[in-house]
Amino acid sequence: MRPTQAIIHLDALEHNLSMVRQMAPNSRVMAVVKADGYGHGIVDVARHLNGADAFAVACIEEAIQLRQGGITQPIVLLEGVFETAELDLVMQHDLEMVVHSPRQMVWLSEASSDHLHNIWLKLDSEMNRLGFTPDNFQAAYHQLNEMNNIGSIRLMTHFACADNIASDKTTEQLKLFTSVNHALRGERSAANSAAILAWPEAHFDWVRPGIMLYGCSPLPDNTGSDHQLKSVMSLESELIAVKPVARGQTVGYGADWTAERDTKIGIVAIGYGDGYPRHAANGTPVWLNGRQVPLAGRVSMDMIAVELGPDGTDKPGDRVVLWGPELPVETVARYSDTIAYTLLCGVTSRVKLVWRKR
Ligand SMILES: *Cc1c(COP(=O)(O)O)cnc(C)c1O
Repeated sequence: MRPTQAIIHLDALEHNLSMVRQMAPNSRVMAVVKADGYGHGIVDVARHLNGADAFAVACIEEAIQLRQGGITQPIVLLEGVFETAELDLVMQHDLEMVVHSPRQMVWLSEASSDHLHNIWLKLDSEMNRLGFTPDNFQAAYHQLNEMNNIGSIRLMTHFACADNIASDKTTEQLKLFTSVNHALRGERSAANSAAILAWPEAHFDWVRPGIMLYGCSPLPDNTGSDHQLKSVMSLESELIAVKPVARGQTVGYGADWTAERDTKIGIVAIGYGDGYPRHAANGTPVWLNGRQVPLAGRVSMDMIAVELGPDGTDKPGDRVVLWGPELPVETVARYSDTIAYTLLCGVTSRVKLVWRKR
């Protein structure tokens, strides 16, 4: 069997949830498990976040996966429904939805009235992505309030710059959220991971952690361990070949890397076909036998090369960690001009997920 696999450390997941509880002790936790649990396997992740008060997903397909996997907590559809026909499924699977647009209001007002569903009414506090504008928000609230097929109405918004502690944007969004909601009743939610870590005044009734549950920091130049978070995914493979290269020889497609000394190259069975980033720069660290070795040359679809050094004693079959507890995925992201989110979500179906309790 190809040795390329992603080990999912379930105890780390539970630990990270307990850190969220410590950081936001007065809030309930809506664990965000969209995009297949950020690439970690949505059902297994949700089962091991059993202590979460609710789960959040991006679409009804993900919600149904959770229900079919035996998850009984409330599940929130972060973008609500995409068409009116989904409302039946919302009721059937007992889901909660975000309402962010006039057309969703119309669908709701036309829906049958024999079921109640909780609604998360979304304010666009100037991220300019989803939500009602401050001018329209209260009217939307009152309109919902008059519908008899609605359970409780909750109030939410989303931050554009919570990962930037130097920016005024979050304070402005917070002020707007608070003032627009001033006279409205309902539980409130605003904080993603960055706001949980950096903006305690934004915690409100419900926090919505995503990336931090998986052990990563959303804050620039930080890694999860700076916040006592534990890395959940170990992306691993093995060395499958070792070869000497002489000074001046090149490695890989485009002959993009040249040996500056007589050295040894190791070939690892992982590539962009597995979700290892094609744009990882020369020198991106890779963990091998207790040290970091540099990526040498371009990432291929199924393989990468690393420089072992002239004295490297590594041999085929040795375990390699691309990211995990030994090497933060945030570091690999930085070398690849991307963010940890895309690397975790981008692990492809060719990579076997292996869930481990410890
Ligand atoms: C994805 C998402 C989150 C979680 O964000 P993280 O940065 O991963 O913590 C929270 N709220 C909404 C609305 C989201 O779409």
